[in-house]
Amino acid sequence: MNKQIRGDFSFFSRKDPYIFLDSAATTQKPRQVIDRISQFYAYEMASVFRATYHAAEQATELYEKARAIIARFINAHSNEIVFTSGTTDGINLVAASWARQHIGADDEIVITQLEHSSNVLAWQALAREKNVRLIIVPIMPDGQLDMHAFDTLLSKKTKLVAITHVSNAIGTQVDIAHIIKKSHEIGARVLVDAAQSVPHQRIDVQKLDVDFLVFSGHKMCGPTGIGVLFIRRDLHDQLVPYRYGGGMVREVVIDGTSTWEPMPHMLEAGTPPIAQAIGLAAAIDYLMNTIDFEKLIAYEAQLTTYAIDKLKKIDRARILGPLEQLKKNGHLVSFVVDGVHAHDVAAFLDAQKPSVAVRAGQQCAQLVHSALQITASVRLSFYLYTTLEEIDTCVKYIKKLVTIL
Ligand code: PMP
Repeated sequence: MNKQIRGDFSFFSRKDPYIFLDSAATTQKPRQVIDRISQFYAYEMASVFRATYHAAEQATELYEKARAIIARFINAHSNEIVFTSGTTDGINLVAASWARQHIGADDEIVITQLEHSSNVLAWQALAREKNVRLIIVPIMPDGQLDMHAFDTLLSKKTKLVAITHVSNAIGTQVDIAHIIKKSHEIGARVLVDAAQSVPHQRIDVQKLDVDFLVFSGHKMCGPTGIGVLFIRRDLHDQLVPYRYGGGMVREVVIDGTSTWEPMPHMLEAGTPPIAQAIGLAAAIDYLMNTIDFEKLIAYEAQLTTYAIDKLKKIDRARILGPLEQLKKNGHLVSFVVDGVHAHDVAAFLDAQKPSVAVRAGQQCAQLVHSALQITASVRLSFYLYTTLEEIDTCVKYIKKLVTIL
């Protein structure tokens, strides 16, 4: 990691210095992204699609250009990209716009114990409403998905497999190519929660042959309030609007036979997150110009390996997840400190000088925690701006903690 990258992030020059090891929750933003958003708000602000003056046309162009940048980034077509408010919104959108129409009584939806709550709760709600069976594929003690169980739980009744690519809680990377292939063989559709993968590795939706893919802008140097939902083109005629309002309607007909704009606008009712979309495109430009993704994977693996090796030397720290895989391509490491609650570990780290920001608790992934029979964990997570020295300091504090508590 070069100093230049670090210098792009003003967070690291706070008066109360912070060691930020919580990038899997949200990332810091580089000056280039903040400046791009400020420029839009300062000089380019106008609504999109509706107005007949040139500033509004320019804003529309910027908004659609952002969509094109994002489409190119994951090798999709622009009309396959729907702007959402985040991963959670994207999953709920698929549930309402597609699944509710195409999944019914006696059908099955398959998820896994690795899922973030947002990829559990939306399907639980649909399962209740439609009398659908929700099947949960277990993980093994090392945190890997039980692929044998997945293969056997899949059946002709499976209509959707909704699965995370990388676990936000323990970092497990799932072989989604296998999942997609197997699911398609029996006619099921696949939604991939790529919130923890798109920021760290290049994803090609065509190569993956995935049906739905969701991620959040704020986890990849972009602003909050913007997410991306990819929906493959051949599913577009199976969708119904998710929300109703301006922007998605073509003609409002008084007798109720109103018609909708084509995709993706049909799913973007109301004034869209214009500045946020432009900010996310700037974040993608920033990442592409700053770091080669192969190098990013190698750098994060180096950080992860370093953290694992250091934590291993602390007797009371128990590291979770598939360690060998994490050392190859991880960007986070979770652990428990025997005898100390995760929240107390986090509070202790925050109270040091400089403070260390980590995630502690169930990490919105209760199923993982129940499967591993733990109540809570501490997670250190990294991104392109993290340094080995920061990990050193954090581990030093943990060593201090185990001597006191
Ligand atoms: N899925 C995964 C794997 C995540 O890591 C997160 C964020 N922690 C989400 C879903 C939800 O993302 P958001 O809060 O941005 O909607």
